Amino acid sequence: MWSYQHAGFTVHQLSVLRDNYIYLIESHTSNALIAVDPAEAVAVRKACKVLAKPLTHIFNTHHHWDHTDGNLSLKQIFGCRIVGASHDAERIPGIDVRVSEAAPPAIAGLNVAVLSVPGHTSGHIAYLVGDALFCGDTLFGAGCGRLFEGSADQMWHSLNKIAALDGSTKIYCAHEYTLANLTFAVSIDADNRVLAERIAADHRRRRQQLPTIPSTLDSEKATNPFLRPLDSEFCRNYAALHGVAAEPAAIFADIRRRKDHF
Ligand code: ZN
Ligand code: FE
Repeated sequence: MWSYQHAGFTVHQLSVLRDNYIYLIESHTSNALIAVDPAEAVAVRKACKVLAKPLTHIFNTHHHWDHTDGNLSLKQIFGCRIVGASHDAERIPGIDVRVSEAAPPAIAGLNVAVLSVPGHTSGHIAYLVGDALFCGDTLFGAGCGRLFEGSADQMWHSLNKIAALDGSTKIYCAHEYTLANLTFAVSIDADNRVLAERIAADHRRRRQQLPTIPSTLDSEKATNPFLRPLDSEFCRNYAALHGVAAEPAAIFADIRRRKDHF
């Protein structure tokens, strides 16, 4: 378990299954202890024991099993409240609190905003807690989620919503996919010096069995191939090289297509 201090809360990171992360958000000023996307219950239960606190809430970003499989047993053990997208309520096991951008969850001691970020699934949401973004399978370290239920345009719009947040925002995504994503990134952004530095740093971290997550939004903007279309120089070069229109949404769609076949 790795822990990160924020103003008013701590984020604990649990590595589970093959490459999933579960996060525990622990308020400093209330009893709130929230599990984000509990892929399984055992690891969360153990962490609660270590923290000597009961789980009060679950935040689900989307309905996939590797984000919700712990929901029902944790609810049974702790009587915690399960929070999910109102738009997707019928697919979130055990949902108690239906939220949206206009109706974020009210959690004592924490400032929580909801972002609607469809693309990976139609009901996908992200939770912004202070300066910590829990974005599930929307934005990854140097990558983005596959388009299972959405269009490239939808995902591009969702990523733009995230990109509009403060650059220092910490990106707590749900999978450790970074090294594989970086291999793809360098294949389309070979001259990017910041990317080369990130590759060296993240390989070092993995060799030391440390997570590459959280990253920061600034780092993703500089190196993530799915956010690079925000940079007009990148777009000009990409368009010239690959013969597509120098238009960010079109370039994003082209990069997403390439990644699917990489
Ligand atoms: Zn998913
Ligand atoms: Fe997932």
